[in-house]
Amino acid sequence: MGPPGAGKGTQAERLVKKFGLKHLSSGDIFRAEKASDSELGAALARYMDAGELVPDDVVVEMMAKAITEVDGGLMLDGFPRTVAQAEALDKQLVEADRPLDAVVVMTADDDIIVKRIAGRRACPICGRGYHVTFMPPKREGYCDDCDGAELTQRSDDCEATVRQRLEAYRAQTEAVIGYYRSCDSLSIVDVDGNLDAEVVSVEVIEALASFEAQA
Ligand code: ADP
Ligand code: ZN
Repeated sequence: MGPPGAGKGTQAERLVKKFGLKHLSSGDIFRAEKASDSELGAALARYMDAGELVPDDVVVEMMAKAITEVDGGLMLDGFPRTVAQAEALDKQLVEADRPLDAVVVMTADDDIIVKRIAGRRACPICGRGYHVTFMPPKREGYCDDCDGAELTQRSDDCEATVRQRLEAYRAQTEAVIGYYRSCDSLSIVDVDGNLDAEVVSVEVIEALASFEAQA
């Protein structure tokens, strides 16, 4: 959990490798639907490009389906983003006997968020994330892994939309963190997302490994 630009996607990529999980990013799932030119994709685009949250019923249905399709351990990224989504997720996970183990909470300052998001790029083929200054590819503008794939910028990564996304985060998503803090059985990892991505990964991996050892 954390505001846009806190580094959730970057850390998620690292954690799935380390712990052998499957990465489920609601934003990636919605962007894939958007790119397919379906009616649903067009509906999602209206919310996403305005920096607003997609309505809960749509989100819950799409994410429930995606979660069901994966057998092993999951790393959820970008979902749940409202208390109603968190409650629906709980219900699904209880019924499937797949409890949540831990929640990673990342913070970051607004000026850092805006700088990070403005320089953010991604590979359209493999999804790998980059930053023009903080995490540049070997050859400017191209993915390190996918021969010749040109990096792209998200349509909602302009400053006005970022500010709107931050507002949605404060108004609707921050409460989900409180919701999880009140669950006794959950391990919460708090990490300072202003720090370098490398430092953040070490801290998160150490904390999660210690929970795993206790369990
Ligand atoms: P970021 O974390 O950088 O803001 P995401 O890729 O997670 O970006 O999400 C991009 C957009 O997709 C959000 O601004 C929102 O419109 C939509 N979205 C993603 N996940 C959810 C969700 N769980 N609930 C509602 N809308 C969502
Ligand atoms: Zn790539």
